[in-house]
Amino acid sequence: MRYETHWEFLKNSALLGKLSHAYVFSGNDETGQLRLALKLSQLLNCESRKGGEPCQVCASCRGITERTHPDAVWIAETREIPIGAIRELRHHFSLSSWQSSFKIAVIEKAHVMNIEAQSALLKLLEEPRQNAILFLCTKHPDLLLDTIRSRAQEIRWYVFPAVLKGNSKNVEDLKRLKGSLLQERFDYAKKAAETPEDAVRILEEWMRTQRSILLKTVSDSSENIMQEERVLKTMQEMLQVIQTTNVTPRLAIEQVLVEL
Ligand SMILES: [Zn+2]
Repeated sequence: MRYETHWEFLKNSALLGKLSHAYVFSGNDETGQLRLALKLSQLLNCESRKGGEPCQVCASCRGITERTHPDAVWIAETREIPIGAIRELRHHFSLSSWQSSFKIAVIEKAHVMNIEAQSALLKLLEEPRQNAILFLCTKHPDLLLDTIRSRAQEIRWYVFPAVLKGNSKNVEDLKRLKGSLLQERFDYAKKAAETPEDAVRILEEWMRTQRSILLKTVSDSSENIMQEERVLKTMQEMLQVIQTTNVTPRLAIEQVLVEL
């Protein structure tokens, strides 16, 4: 329900004209982060708002959904966002609007901006302009420059798959770690995986849980299938690595934890 709470908050800020010029949406709900950025972008430029909600059918709403709106830029890179992408973004923000009142930029997986890109983005945040808004969506806000985070309003929330039940401590740990900061994950790996036997036991339990998450994700036809598959695959690979090499168990567990 947290997504709805944040939507209400942002909607009211928009209707009162009290939006921040930049937001960081963080936590593990990547789909929800994008949904929130998309809906707010629609609301800001909708040609016929209905009761504070975007109509979803006007040319502007559709353009934003289809990512063809001339005033809305989406940056979606999975490996690395280079400085060139942020330079283009600054250029976009420097032009006047084509057809709408708001210039919008959404950066997915904002943590994959390299350091030059982050510095360029910081410059953009230091010169905010009227009627322009930037959304940074990320699972790893701790990989963003502190100076970026301090210039944006951060909204953080987590979702937990309902299938994550069970009494096993390892399963409980997995559930908790899915919503935790990287530092907490590394601390966990250091404590929990002292020996290869520990790491094997943890991974075997996690894989059982992860398989049931994946099955549920498939039956829900959720958009997170690829992500959940990747997590399971990393668990399998690391289990094999621990059993066949002399890798440090902590490193193998960390490898899984960064994928969560
Ligand atoms: Zn509309």
